[in-house]
Amino acid sequence: SKFHSKGHPVLFSKEHESTILGQRKMEQCLIDANLEEELQVHYQPIVDTHSGRTVGMEALARWNNPQLGFVSPAQFIPAAENLGIISKLTTILMEKALKVASSWTTDTYLSFNLSASDLASPETPLKLMAIIMRSGFSPKRLVFEITETTMMVNFERANEVLRPFRDLGVEIALDDFGTGYSSLGYIQKMPIDRLKIDRAFVSDLEAKKISRDIMGTIVDLCSHLEIKCIVEGVETHKQLELVQLLGCHLIQGYYYSKPLPTDEANEFLKQNTNASMN
Ligand code: C2E
Ligand code: CA
Ligand code: CA
Ligand code: CA
Repeated sequence: SKFHSKGHPVLFSKEHESTILGQRKMEQCLIDANLEEELQVHYQPIVDTHSGRTVGMEALARWNNPQLGFVSPAQFIPAAENLGIISKLTTILMEKALKVASSWTTDTYLSFNLSASDLASPETPLKLMAIIMRSGFSPKRLVFEITETTMMVNFERANEVLRPFRDLGVEIALDDFGTGYSSLGYIQKMPIDRLKIDRAFVSDLEAKKISRDIMGTIVDLCSHLEIKCIVEGVETHKQLELVQLLGCHLIQGYYYSKPLPTDEANEFLKQNTNASMN
C-alpha cells in the first residue's frame, strides 16, 4: 500500500485494518490545513568532496499537523497531487525556501523538487516565476529537481515549461535516476544540467559489482556530456569511498547530514562551507 512505500515512517501503523480510513483522514486534514503555518522546509546539504564545501541544499517539505503530527512527504505530496492542491503547497514551499536561501551569505544553490502536476498545470509555472522574481534570489543559484518519470511521460511539455526558467539560468536536475525508465540513451536527449543517482544504487554498491559497474558507466557518461552527477543516500564512509572511486564527487546523504530545519541548516552552512570535510 501507499503507506509502506519507500521505507518512510508508517502513518497510523497501529491501524492496519483502516489504512483507507487513515488515507481519507490525512486527505481531509490536508484540505483543512493551515498550510502557511503547518508546512515547513528542511534543507539537506550537498557536498563537493573535492573542495569539502557544501555547494547546495535540497529543500524538502515537512508537514506538521496538529492532529496527525509529522506526515512524510512521500505520503502527503502524492495526496496533494491527487486532490488537485499541489500548486498551493509548491508555491508556499518555494516562497519559504527562497526566503531562507536569500539569507545565505554563501553562493550555495537551492535545489527544489517539482512534481508532475506542477509542470502540467497552466498556472503553477507562472506563479513560480513571479515568486522567484519577487524573491531577488538569483535564478542562477536555483535548481529544479524533476523525476525521471515526470520528464519522460511529459517530455515535450516539460521542455516547453522549463525553457523560460533555463533561460534565466535555473538548472534542471533529473531526480531519482535509476528508478524509472533508466535509459542511458535518454540522458543526452533531455535538457538536463544535473543527474541525481538514486540511493538504491548506493545501498547495493558494496555487495554488487554490477551496481558499481553501472554507476561507473553513468558517472562517465555524465562527465562526457558535461552533466553534473550527484549521488544520493550516502550513509557510510565505505560508501563515500566507493562513490568517489567511481568518479563522483557531489554527495548528498546522512553521512554528511540529514535534512535540517532552517536554523540548523544556516548553522551547518556557516560551519562547513569553508571547512574541509574529507
Ligand atoms: P527525494 O526528492 O528523492 O528526496 C530525498 C529523500 O531521501 C528525502 O526524503 C531525504 O530525507 C532522503 N535521504 C537523504 N539522504 C538519505 C540517506 O543517506 N539515507 C536515507 N535512507 N534517506 C536519505 P524525504 O524528505 O522524506 O522526502 C521524500 C520524497 O518526498 C522526496 O524524495 C520527494 O520525492 C518528495 N518531496 C519532498 N519534498 C518535496 C517538495 O517540496 N515537493 C515535491 N514535489 N516533492 C517533495
Ligand atoms: Ca529530490
Ligand atoms: Ca531523489
Ligand atoms: Ca528518491
